[in-house]
Amino acid sequence: MKLILLGAPGAGKGTQAEILSRMLNIPTISTGNILRAAMKNGTPVGLKAKEYVESGKLVPDDVIIGIVRERLSEDDCKNGYILDGMPRTIPQAEALEKVGIDIDTALSIEISDETIIERMAGRRTCKDCSTTFHIVSNPPKVEGKCDNCGGELVIRKDDSPETVKARLATYHTETEPLKDFYSKRGKLKTVDNQATVEQTTAEVKKALGL
Ligand code: AMP
Repeated sequence: MKLILLGAPGAGKGTQAEILSRMLNIPTISTGNILRAAMKNGTPVGLKAKEYVESGKLVPDDVIIGIVRERLSEDDCKNGYILDGMPRTIPQAEALEKVGIDIDTALSIEISDETIIERMAGRRTCKDCSTTFHIVSNPPKVEGKCDNCGGELVIRKDDSPETVKARLATYHTETEPLKDFYSKRGKLKTVDNQATVEQTTAEVKKALGL
């Protein structure tokens, strides 16, 4: 399965992608996680991305397209993958088509801006492996520690309320038009975000026929 997850920042794409990855045994390619790792390691891509990511703006399309093309050519993507956070603009979606990356489904997780702003305040991210938690709806087993790798859980710099508002504005203008793009191609499915991670997963599975 080649799946794209669409939805506003904080809609739960990363969390659902991790669950689906385990269930389907295919990798999740998260451009946000790749960029954060590059920034942490101070690579040329990381240095280029930093100012955009930290102010809630989109990183230029050519940088993202390069990263994703390279990652999708790796062996573990042969049987499918989940794209989390890419494409985020119409040119990125067109670039995927141009290089022959043909996805099966674009699944959009729908959620209101108000819920996101409330929710982002409780999000915690592992400093080492980027797994996300929520202090109320998806808490780690041990407070402040990642269930996966034991790494320290931190608040992402771009999860501050002002940056979240900027990211939501960018989502509505740049990314939301992708729903129409994939709908015209008969590939769009939508689910409403639910109160718990498990309930949202149930809706996602139903939409994907799993
Ligand atoms: P995310 O973890 O998906 O919320 O991404 C965090 C930040 O990384 C975004 O706010 C952007 O600055 C940048 N980013 C991630 N994916 C993309 C993309 N496909 N295109 C442009 N910028 C991106």
